[in-house]
Amino acid sequence: MDRQGYELRDGEDRNGANGLHDEARGARFDIFPLVLAESRSFVYNKIISELVRHETIFTDYNRACEDHCMECQTCARAIRAVTNALIHPDAMVWEVWSTGDIVDLAGILYITDVVVGCDAKAHYAFFDNDLWGKTDVIKSVIDWLFEDHPEWVALSRLTIEIPDFAFALAAHATRKLGFGGDNEYTTRKKSGKKSRTIPVEGVKRNALLWRDMYRDVLVLGLLNQRIN
Ligand SMILES: [Zn+2]
Repeated sequence: MDRQGYELRDGEDRNGANGLHDEARGARFDIFPLVLAESRSFVYNKIISELVRHETIFTDYNRACEDHCMECQTCARAIRAVTNALIHPDAMVWEVWSTGDIVDLAGILYITDVVVGCDAKAHYAFFDNDLWGKTDVIKSVIDWLFEDHPEWVALSRLTIEIPDFAFALAAHATRKLGFGGDNEYTTRKKSGKKSRTIPVEGVKRNALLWRDMYRDVLVLGLLNQRIN
């Protein structure tokens, strides 16, 4: 189950070995299913407080207030949006911990909208915003999803939906993870910036309101080569 220096564990062997090393980059990560328990409320609090800062995962209708105060009604909506996603019965969530010199919760990965043995929607957020440094972490979870396990049937594909303004996320998903599609999407030209083209399966036009503008959401897929 381990690949490229990372280890992904089922809930059942949580008590086994520690995460493996990636000596080359000096970064080590341990990945395991989210455990919700009263004694671990600090983990849950950290996930919530970090995620509400990730502007790209919220719309104008559910984002936190500008101060991220976590106490006002606006923040309550954002907290509810995150919580609903994480505790949804169809969701699977993994914690990613850095296990090098500093042991810390580095981010989360989760899937929603699971169609057994077929498809799921993948999401990931890393709290230091170093997405490119987590490529192998994401790949090891994708590998797990693409294989059979007790109570898990290998998916034939995986889907990610990326707002058109989150270009860094789309660039990473296409270049590093292999997501894409048979169509092309060209970003709207901004002043001083070139438009860019991304391979996509499809586009949901005007799918979300972000900073007072309706924005497109790109649908990208990754096929399980073992099945397809
Ligand atoms: Zn607030």
